[in-house]
Amino acid sequence: MKGLPPWWVFKGFAIFPPKWHTSRFVNRIFLEGPLQAPLKFFFWQARVAAKELYLMEIIQAQKAGFCMGVDLALRKLDSLIENESEQGPIFILGSIIHNPQVVRAYAEKGVITVESPEEIPAGSRVVIRAHGIVKAVKEDLIRRGVAVTDATCPKVREACRLIEKHAQDGRMLLLYGEATHPEVKGLLSYAEAGAFVFDSGEKCLQKELEPGRKYCLAAQTTQDKEIFASISDGLQARDNLDLTVLHTICNATRQRQEEALRLAKEVDFVIVAGGYDSSNTRRLVQVVEAQGTGALHVETADELPLDDLKKYARIGLTAGASTPRSIIDEIHRVLEGL
Ligand code: SF4
Repeated sequence: MKGLPPWWVFKGFAIFPPKWHTSRFVNRIFLEGPLQAPLKFFFWQARVAAKELYLMEIIQAQKAGFCMGVDLALRKLDSLIENESEQGPIFILGSIIHNPQVVRAYAEKGVITVESPEEIPAGSRVVIRAHGIVKAVKEDLIRRGVAVTDATCPKVREACRLIEKHAQDGRMLLLYGEATHPEVKGLLSYAEAGAFVFDSGEKCLQKELEPGRKYCLAAQTTQDKEIFASISDGLQARDNLDLTVLHTICNATRQRQEEALRLAKEVDFVIVAGGYDSSNTRRLVQVVEAQGTGALHVETADELPLDDLKKYARIGLTAGASTPRSIIDEIHRVLEGL
């Protein structure tokens, strides 16, 4: 609960009880005369103060939810489902996005999620998700007569193109990312001149690099730009290192993290919505907590601890890049009802 509003707010309510505010008498005497502007300002201030006293405020991040790449991938999948002229079951290699509610909704529409390409029979259709795919796996699917719809995010595709171009020039890839992430596996498949993957600046800077060899440095699209810049500076400070730096980090992640940081400074607590296996959602929780503000990661509105949340005057709401609008709206609606 915030501090008390100034004394004149209470006095104002005593002089003009709420019924009077709309009465004709008050309108004639006060609100249409020379006192119009100061009185309007007075009532506006009174409303704000009363709201601060009695109501919880919910501040929602503007960039919460789907990024461009996820939105595009789901649109492609939707249009494939709706296209009745094409036959054959639709497969996804790995979850279409890191959100179990969305995956379940597509399963109900007949979309089959599999973990290995061998499970996709010839004559069927497959959608490649926004993270992309290992180059050889895609080529094999096409060779086996599977109709491939490539929904790889344009930014991931551009990263693949740059890595492939520099590999053809003989440059070994130094890739900042999580080795087990599907996007990283896809990016590595384009690094034909060799690659080294690392998940921290220390690991990269400790790596012995061969003199006379050519390198290129890139990052998984969802990595932190500041950390990447410090890795890049560290490598470029080395003498006689032939290094090209590729800027492959996507702004969508950064924008969400910057907003989460701003929210953390403005509110008492932050709700972060998104799948538990979504790494960009988990990172938003870390960003908030690093500011000393409490945060809770939920997948749906059912998981909100309503009684605990009532004690906060200002709650922030944000969501990962794979969280659907319907889930964010539902959480907002439930919080507003507190
Ligand atoms: S986070 Fe960026 S790179 Fe990844 S899918 Fe979204 S828009 Fe594409």
